[in-house]
Parts: sequence; C-alpha cells; structure tokens
Amino acid sequence: MLRENLQKVKDRIEKACVKAGRNIDEVTLIAVSKTKPLSDIEELILCGTKEFGENKVQELVDKYENVSTPVNWHLIGHLQTNKVKYIVDKVSLIHSVDSLKLAKEIQKEAAKKNVIVNILVQVNVANEDTKFGLDTSEVLHLVNEISILPNIRIKGLMTIAPYVENPEDNRPYFKELKQLLLDIKSKNIDNVDMSILSMGMTNDYEVAIEEGATMVRVGTGIFGERNYNI
Ligand SMILES: *Cc1c(COP(=O)(O)O)cnc(C)c1O
Repeated sequence: MLRENLQKVKDRIEKACVKAGRNIDEVTLIAVSKTKPLSDIEELILCGTKEFGENKVQELVDKYENVSTPVNWHLIGHLQTNKVKYIVDKVSLIHSVDSLKLAKEIQKEAAKKNVIVNILVQVNVANEDTKFGLDTSEVLHLVNEISILPNIRIKGLMTIAPYVENPEDNRPYFKELKQLLLDIKSKNIDNVDMSILSMGMTNDYEVAIEEGATMVRVGTGIFGERNYNI
C-alpha cells in the first residue's frame, strides 16, 4: 500500500516538474511520518525513501533512535527553545525557525555539541492567525540577524499554506515566497545560500512545484489519513 502511494506521489511530482519545465532532481520529497509507526517508516526505507519529516521533538527522537537504517530527519513543526538541545545533532534540517530567540538557542546548543545546523526560516505568507512563522516584511531582518551565528546555516524559506479546497488558491502565496527567496538571495548575505524552498503538502504540492518548491512535505498522500486519538 505504502509503496503504491509513494509511487503515485512520485509520478505526480514528475508530471508537475515536466509541466513546469523543471528537472525532477530539483525537488526533494519529504515523507511526513508524524503519528505513523516505525514499521511504516521501515517499509518506506525499503522503497528507497531517505527523507522523513516529524513535527514533534519527542517523536522525532524516538524514531531516530529506533530506526534500523540511518535516514535524514526534518523537523517541520514548531520548535520550543527548551527542546532544542534534544535535536540539534539529530536533524538534517529544521524548517521552522521564526525568531531570533530560537535561533540563538540553536546556536548555543549547536556550539556545545560542535555541530553546524541547517535551518529554514518559516514564513506565514498568508498571514493566518493560527500559524507560526514570520510576516514576509520581517524575514530579511531576521535572516540578517541569524546569518552572523557561526553554527547555523540558513538554507532557505518554508511556509505552511492555508488549507484550501482548491490548491490553485495557494498559488499566489507560493509565488510570493519564491520571490522573497530570490530577493534575499540577491543580497548575497554571508552564510545564507537560499537554495531551499520548502512548500507544498498533500493537497497542493503540484502547484507548489510549479511555483518553484525544492522540497515538498507529503504525509497523507503517502501514509494515508492520520489518527490523532490513538
Ligand atoms: C503534517 C504536516 C505536513 C504534511 O501534511 P499532509 O497534508 O498530510 O501532506 C507538511 N508540513 C507540515 C509542517 C506538517 O505539519
């Protein structure tokens, strides 16, 4: 089942790339395994998946410690400063940095463990009250502030678009984030490469790819519906 789902998602990613005139190698699929058992992750690893996304620190750490083969872990959910110490040496990318306070904590813990941490700055492009992330107008300022922290590398931007019936409704937000990425990239800030644009989920990843996403985060499309009550 998971194998077929994964193949369907990959096929749709490929179609979206072709439609947009992009090379399929430019888009990384992150399998969002939150709430799903380790056995599902193991099955996907057998299918060749190496990138997994989790939104809770404890769950990420548990899975990190118990998985049979090392894979790359992405923290995609809100990160509290008191939990930074558990993950700085375990994640390949933190997608959800949205304050200087959090970045400074990451710097502190990364320095202690002598690691470099790759991060994205989370932007609330649609300005939703319910979402974490910065206002677009605040992003450049924060990027500049974080860029001087020696154990952090800013790799790009991330957004969680609104839940919409019609994925086309999110196209303007994806376009806006891509433009913001290019604007910041053009400033050539030291330590900031702006190569990653993490946007698009099960409902809208094809539109996100058409607008320049380099990472899509797909949960339901691969693993099926989540049950939060178990
Ligand atoms: C849960 C989650 C996803 C995946 O959502 P689906 O709609 O199941 O694909 C992607 N990004 C973030 C930040 C999430 O929390």
